[in-house]
Amino acid sequence: MKLTIHGYSTALYATWYFIEELGILFDAGDGVCSSLLGKAGKIKHAFISHADRDHLTGLLQFNQLFAGLKPTIYYPKDSGSFPFLKEFFTKFDPHNTGTNWQEIEDKSIIATKNTIQVEAIENGHVVQPGLLKSLSFKVFETKRKLKSEFANLHKDELINIKKERGDGFLTNEIKRNILSYSADTPIDDYDRYHNSEVLIHEATFLTKEETNTKMWKNKHSSLYEVFEMIANINIDKLILGHFSSRYDQYEIDNKIKKHIQQYNIKIPVYRIPIGNTIKNILAQEPIN
Ligand SMILES: [Zn+2]
Repeated sequence: MKLTIHGYSTALYATWYFIEELGILFDAGDGVCSSLLGKAGKIKHAFISHADRDHLTGLLQFNQLFAGLKPTIYYPKDSGSFPFLKEFFTKFDPHNTGTNWQEIEDKSIIATKNTIQVEAIENGHVVQPGLLKSLSFKVFETKRKLKSEFANLHKDELINIKKERGDGFLTNEIKRNILSYSADTPIDDYDRYHNSEVLIHEATFLTKEETNTKMWKNKHSSLYEVFEMIANINIDKLILGHFSSRYDQYEIDNKIKKHIQQYNIKIPVYRIPIGNTIKNILAQEPIN
């Protein structure tokens, strides 16, 4: 499936990614509506990874403008900020009703369309033992494919078999991980995104040493670690974002190119420059 992904992602300020074909928004930092304008009305499912303000402050305007279209906002089950927001929005914009608020758990699977499922996965960004406060997401597409032994049958025969034995007799389910979104997270394991067709991953810091900075209480990834993971798994396209604005874009791009060379990365790599909204990210020139 072709994915038209629009996004903004600069650490501390705002992060959001909108996937047009899926009607899915991942995170809702400032500027979602002012960048997407009427297109924001196509957001049917907003998955918020955690309650850091740079990932949710766009919700107020989204709710005010589009609550009537009955979107659903999903959030990690133990993030108290969301029920509080819901209550506040209800009082602040009492006429804008219709938004559904749904808490989700680790390994929750939400079917957003007949063929599309979103799986939530607990990540290590916010660590509070026993409480679920931060999530990554994987999007799967399932399709039914005709079993090879029936490939030569005539259409009418297939229709008859289907009537008698059901669709499951004729076809196999093919499930593909068409997109994954790390959200804010340290790299916990390499398997998580193996075989994702598109991976959107955060790279707040350039070096691993910087991920230990005391100033940042929640855990993040470094560009170096992301590339080390990418070199060890199979994905088709990589989108990097959530860079810290402490860096110069030139410095970030040079580091990305250096890693691409060093790890002999053959897949296209895209990045969200600091302070920029990128429309249709995958239609841009990759950095390599
Ligand atoms: Zn963030």
